[in-house]
Amino acid sequence: MPNGTPPPPRPQYKPPRKNGNSFTYVVLFALILTFAYYLFNPQGGPNGNGLAEEIPLNTFIASYEARDYKSIEVKGDKIYGENEEGTRVYAVRPLTDGLSELGLSDPKNPTEIKVVSTEAAAFWSNVIASWLPIILFIALIIFMAKQLGKGANNAFTFGKSQARVYNKDKNKTTFKDVAGMDEAKEELVEVVDFLKHPKKYTKIGAKIPRGVMLVGAPGTGKTLLARAVAGEANVPFFSISGSEFVEMFVGVGASRVRDLFQKAKRNAPCIIFIDEIDAVGRQRGFGMGGGHDEREQTLNQILTEMDGFEKDTNVIVVAATNRPDVLDKALMRPGRFDRRVIIDMPNLKERLEIIKVHTRGKPMAKGIKYEKIAQQTPGFSGADIENLVNEAAILAAKEGKKTIGQTHLEVSIEKVGLGPERKSRVLSPEEKKITAYHEVGHALVGHSLPGCDPVHKVTIISRGMALGATWFVPEDDKHLHAVSKFEDEICSLLGGYLAEKIFFKEVTTGASSDLKRATQIARRMVTEYGMSEELGPIIYSETSGQFMGTEMGSSRDYSEQIAAKIDAEVKKIIDAQMKRTTKIINDNKPLMTKISEDLLKKEVLSKEEFEAYF
Ligand code: ADP
Ligand code: MG
Ligand code: ZN
Repeated sequence: MPNGTPPPPRPQYKPPRKNGNSFTYVVLFALILTFAYYLFNPQGGPNGNGLAEEIPLNTFIASYEARDYKSIEVKGDKIYGENEEGTRVYAVRPLTDGLSELGLSDPKNPTEIKVVSTEAAAFWSNVIASWLPIILFIALIIFMAKQLGKGANNAFTFGKSQARVYNKDKNKTTFKDVAGMDEAKEELVEVVDFLKHPKKYTKIGAKIPRGVMLVGAPGTGKTLLARAVAGEANVPFFSISGSEFVEMFVGVGASRVRDLFQKAKRNAPCIIFIDEIDAVGRQRGFGMGGGHDEREQTLNQILTEMDGFEKDTNVIVVAATNRPDVLDKALMRPGRFDRRVIIDMPNLKERLEIIKVHTRGKPMAKGIKYEKIAQQTPGFSGADIENLVNEAAILAAKEGKKTIGQTHLEVSIEKVGLGPERKSRVLSPEEKKITAYHEVGHALVGHSLPGCDPVHKVTIISRGMALGATWFVPEDDKHLHAVSKFEDEICSLLGGYLAEKIFFKEVTTGASSDLKRATQIARRMVTEYGMSEELGPIIYSETSGQFMGTEMGSSRDYSEQIAAKIDAEVKKIIDAQMKRTTKIINDNKPLMTKISEDLLKKEVLSKEEFEAYF
C-alpha cells in the first residue's frame, strides 16, 4: 500500500527457532563426514599417508630382510616402510600377528622400528563402520516420530477455521487507500454504523442487515474495500477466503464454518469477511464430480449459521465474488446476503483518483499530467492501474532516474494493456509492411467515421500476441451506444482486414481477432440490443451449461429458423459495413500508402503525427 510517509517500523514476526532439530542435523553431518573420511582414507586415519603404495605382505617382509628400508612404522593393521629415497610403501597384516610372528623384529636388522599403535585406528574405523548405520537409523526414527507428532497436533485443529483476525495497530488500510467507489463506501459505512449503534436502528423497528455481497469484476478492489472496512470499523474483523473451506475431506468445510461463526459470536459485534465466496457458494445440485458434495455441505452450513443468528447478534457477514451468476439463489434471499454492493470498473474520474492513490509517496517528476494517463486507460481495473504505476517505477529505476516521469507511465500503459515488447520476434520486411498497412487501415477508417474514438497512437512494435496496434481513446466514458456507433466500430475493425485485401490482394491470419470482435458486436446488436429491423426488439439468449466451472454445451431459447435468421442478419450488418469500409479505403489509397510507408520507417505514430496527415 503506498502511503504518504513510510510506515513506522513494527516488530517483525520471527518464526520460532528449532534449536533441537538443527543440533541433530549438525551431529548427523559430522558423523557422516567422519565416516566418509575413513572410507576414502583407508591408509589409517588422520596420520595415514595417502601416497604410500600397497604391496603384498610377503614382499614387504622380503624387503625388510634385504634391509631395503630405512625405517618401519606400525599403525594398526598397516605396516609402513620407508627407503633411503623417502618412498613409502605399506602392507596389511592380520591384526592377530605381532611383529615377531611376522619376523619383523630381527635384533640384528638395523632398520629403525616405530610402533604408533597396534590396533587403535582399526578399532575406531571398525566402531564407526558398524555403529554409524545404527546411529543414523535411530536419528531417522526420532525425526519421523517428531513429524508424526506434528501431524497428530494438526488433527485437532483441522476442522477449525483459519480465519485471520485483523487487529487495529497493524499497518492498516483505510478508506483513504480506496479511490472512488463512493456509493460502495457509503453502503459499508452504514453497515458499520449498524454494528456500532444497533439501538438507534432497532428502536424504530429496523432490522440489522445480515450480509453484504460485494460484486465486481476481478481487480476492481473488493478485497481492498473489505480490508478498508476492517481498518475503519474498529470492531474485530474475521477474514477468510472461500477456498479455505474446501479441503480434501468431506465435512471439514462445514466444521470450519461452524467454528468461524462461533468465534465471531463470541466476539460480537464483529464482521466476518468471506472472500471469493463462489468457491463454496455455487448453485447446489448443479456440479458434477467429486468436490461437489463437500461444497454443498459447506454452503448449507453457511446458510444455517446465518439463519441461526438471534435477532440481537451483532455479526455482519461481508462476502465478495466476481461470479454472482453462479451463486446459489438461497444465498441472496432476504435475511442472508440481502444487500448487494456493485463495484464497477473505474470510470475516468475514479481512474484518476486511483492513479493518485498509487503514486502517492512515490518520487514523481514535476508536472505530470495524470488526467492524460486516466484518459488513456479505459477498461483498466484498479489492479491494472496499480500494476501500471509499478511498471513505470521499474522502468524509471532501470534507466537510473530519480523520479518517475510522464513517458514512463505512458510506455507502461501499453505494456500492461498488451504485454511486454517482443524484441526477439523478428518480422520479415514483408510481414512488417503488411502489419503497417493493416494498422493504418484501422486508424484511417476510424478517423473518417464520427462514431469512432479519436486515434491515440499507431504502432507496429509487437507486444504480447499482437504484431501491431492502433489505440483509440475515448474522450469520455460512454454508457449508451447507438446503432451508428456500433456500425462505425465494426468498420474500423474491418479496416485492417480490408487494407490487407486491397493492397496485397490477400488476407493474413493477423486479422482474425479483429473479425471475431466485429462479428461479436454484430451478433450482440441482433440478439441482445434489438437493433435489427427483421428480428425486432426481442432478446435471443443462450444459456450455457456448466461442467466444473467451465462452459459445456449450450441451450438456446429460440428455434432453428430464428437461428438461421440471426446468422443472416449478422451477415447483412457485416456486409454493409464491408462496403462502407472498402469505399473509405479506396477513396484514400494514396494517403494510406503515404502514412503506411512513414509508419514502416518510424514504427510509431503519435496522435499529433497521425492527425497532421488530414
Ligand atoms: P478484487 O478483490 O476485486 O479482485 P483487489 O481488492 O484484490 O481486487 O484489488 C487489487 C489491487 O488493485 C488492490 O490491492 C489495489 O492496490 C488496487 N485497487 C483496486 N481498486 C482500487 C481502488 N479503487 N483504489 C485504489 N486501489 C485499487
Ligand atoms: Mg479479491
Ligand atoms: Zn487489427
